[in-house]
Amino acid sequence: MQKPWHGLIHCPECNALHRDSRCEICGAELDLQPVHAMIDGEEMTLPSVMQGAIPWSTFVLLEQIRIESERPAEMRPHHTSLSQRFTVVLLFWTLFEVLIDALYRAAFADLPGQLGDELLQRFPNIGGRLNRLYQRTWQLSFADDLRLEGFEEEAALIGKIQSARNAFVHGNPEAIDDELVDLTLSNLESAQRGWIAIFNKRCTRRHNKIPIWMSAERRASRT
Ligand SMILES: [Zn+2]
Repeated sequence: MQKPWHGLIHCPECNALHRDSRCEICGAELDLQPVHAMIDGEEMTLPSVMQGAIPWSTFVLLEQIRIESERPAEMRPHHTSLSQRFTVVLLFWTLFEVLIDALYRAAFADLPGQLGDELLQRFPNIGGRLNRLYQRTWQLSFADDLRLEGFEEEAALIGKIQSARNAFVHGNPEAIDDELVDLTLSNLESAQRGWIAIFNKRCTRRHNKIPIWMSAERRASRT
């Protein structure tokens, strides 16, 4: 489930997310030579280490999705189609909201003053961020952008989950059935890869580079 994040780092030059020694967006080469350091008077050779890109909250949510997906099924009443693993879908949606927030923070990093924050405050809900705010910024919706990058099924899944989650919140929990849970799990990794592709398309080559692992609190203290 966390596979898309394994070995993923931010390019120090353009902020793209990649895992090779050469950045696929700007071509910068990373120096992965071992580091020599004196420790307690002895010269030690240490492997080059870089901060992984995965945000802590993403790690925690993916771990919980894994736990919930393995929950053993119990006998359930016949009158409901609500999946016993419905939390998988709710957790995925929370994960997605966290990632979309990080995407905008990085994309708006060069806007003057507090403009980026103000725009996000004007569009506090995920629906507005995926459509109106995205349209105004990049002239298409997030789903259409995903489709352009070849993530057709993932774009459809996100639309389905959004509708089901809204129905759930407004009194129809049965909108999250086993079929949707299975679909979410089977597309979990590719949906994250889709998000990474969009990040690299929309959030790189800024003067200010905001890593996605940086918490909102720390981002605020930078300004
Ligand atoms: Zn780069």
